Amino acid sequence: MKYWGYLLLKLVAAAGVMFFVWAAIVASFRGAFENPLYGQKPFGHDLGFTTAMLLYFLACFGVLHLVIWDQRYRCRTCLRRLRMPVSRGSWPNMLLIGQPRTEYICLYGHGTLKVPEVRITTKSPDWEHHDDDIWKELESLEESKR
Ligand SMILES: [Zn+2]
Repeated sequence: MKYWGYLLLKLVAAAGVMFFVWAAIVASFRGAFENPLYGQKPFGHDLGFTTAMLLYFLACFGVLHLVIWDQRYRCRTCLRRLRMPVSRGSWPNMLLIGQPRTEYICLYGHGTLKVPEVRITTKSPDWEHHDDDIWKELESLEESKR
């Protein structure tokens, strides 16, 4: 819930920033709005305003992409950025050790994100939540050696 709330908060903040950018564009083209020659809104009639709106539209998509890209690489529990990318797998040995992927971990041990190198389907990257007891895995390794 915290993860999705943070995404929603970032989207609202980005929308607020982009609203001010839109207001600044409209304010800077105030002359085009007051020109009686057009008789209509300047979008599609004034080249400068239409170009500015095109760039604004592209900037909105860029900001949306950045927000979603940033959210993907955050820990689902503590919202910190995932670190320590490790390449795993191999194409020649795919049947033995799996297809190539990059694994990111949370520094506080909350989980691992496995991002496949090639995404053929729309399946999202695999998040694997770890146990709260980080020593459990090490103890099981010790027991397996005996
Ligand atoms: Zn974490």
